[in-house]
Amino acid sequence: MAKSAKPKNRYAKSEKLFAEAVKLMPGGVSSPVRSFKSVGMSPVFIKEGKGARLIDADNNSYIDYVMSYGPLIAGHCPPTVRAAVAKQIDKGSSYGCNSEPEIRLAALIAEAMGHVPMVRFVNSGTEATMSAVRLARGVTKRDLIVKAAGCYHGHVDALLVEAGSGATTHGHPSSPGVPEAVTANTLVVAYNNLEAAAKVFAEHGARIAVVMVEPICGNIGVVAPVAGYLQGLRELCDKHGAMLLFDEVMTGFRVAYGGAQGLYSVRPDITCLGKIIGGGLPVGAYGAKAEIMNQVSPAGPIYQAGTLSGNPLAMAAGIATLELLADGNAYSQLEALGARMETGLIEAAKSAGVAVAVQRVGSMITPFFLKNEAASKKQEGSPVVQNYAEALACDTAAYARFFKVMLDGGVMLPPSQFESWFISTAHTEGDIDATIDVAKGAFAAAKS
Ligand SMILES: *Cc1c(COP(=O)(O)O)cnc(C)c1O
Repeated sequence: MAKSAKPKNRYAKSEKLFAEAVKLMPGGVSSPVRSFKSVGMSPVFIKEGKGARLIDADNNSYIDYVMSYGPLIAGHCPPTVRAAVAKQIDKGSSYGCNSEPEIRLAALIAEAMGHVPMVRFVNSGTEATMSAVRLARGVTKRDLIVKAAGCYHGHVDALLVEAGSGATTHGHPSSPGVPEAVTANTLVVAYNNLEAAAKVFAEHGARIAVVMVEPICGNIGVVAPVAGYLQGLRELCDKHGAMLLFDEVMTGFRVAYGGAQGLYSVRPDITCLGKIIGGGLPVGAYGAKAEIMNQVSPAGPIYQAGTLSGNPLAMAAGIATLELLADGNAYSQLEALGARMETGLIEAAKSAGVAVAVQRVGSMITPFFLKNEAASKKQEGSPVVQNYAEALACDTAAYARFFKVMLDGGVMLPPSQFESWFISTAHTEGDIDATIDVAKGAFAAAKS
């Protein structure tokens, strides 16, 4: 009698690596989402990324929609970015002195974004927002920050807040280790809710330094601003002498070459960038008009510094990436691929009988698994999920089931309902169609 073969574990090597990793790094990861905890799986280890594909330690191949959570708009290892980094590393990796690529990248940003004529480079999005808040407070000589619930601005103490209960808008720390004293100056409002913003201004207007938002919320899944929201924030800030900060770490050079501020034609006072402008290397930047930026040290009194800031390798990767995007064709290509994905997901979900709201801006897309038919009460053209509370009401267990079938089928999605998928210029129509084919079964499985 033949022994029945044990089904092969296609993640065996990743699981072995993870067992080692948890002994050496908290949760076995360098950033929490990578643990696959919210989809209840053991995470995969990647050994190679090429174009739109990832290869894991067990040699499984995936069409990748994580794309390093946004930076890789031209896919993994685009030839020109690779060449630029290789050329630079032969000339050294860091100087502790000025280098010309900083000027080139700053100039590319200034050309693309009319409201960012001057920047300071840092090493991550977190550093950008942290420094930008200091700048806003330093310039306005006010202390209060207004932040929208669900918008993620990195792990800055003052921004790790959740809304207070009841009538209070003062934030409470959302992580141990953040003192109440630090978040006491952070006011939390619901995203896409102008009345809530108007209310905090009515109460605290003269003390508010800055209103900061993701102009398109991407860190609870993709939630576009409702018509008039960003413009309304602009007007409130102007009326009360506060600054408007757009955190475009994700959306900058993603939704359009000029970012979300270009897409919606709203002027922020300060802009934070990161991700794409580093082309896959660690980078961040904050920028504004000269009058504001020249308040930063050494031009002005507001201190901020960085050993590796303006790093020539990161600058080289960023420049090469922006050069790939500059001709504008990239964005029509990304829009077409995004639209194809959106249509495909909607149809696949519908034929599986799963209630899903597919929300998309360009190449950022999230299918929200709805627990109830929230959709029907929303106005035509508005997103079904409009804020953090509505995102939290989604069916994360259904997403987890969906995720697993997609992964097994060779599609790497973010391992959380509350993340955007990213399409790159390395993806093809064939990749999208193959993804939709796998999604048909995944939606059926999600339904359980
Ligand atoms: C990713 C992200 C950040 C944080 O950037 P890190 O480089 O991870 O520190 C900040 N804001 C937004 C909108 C982001 O998407």
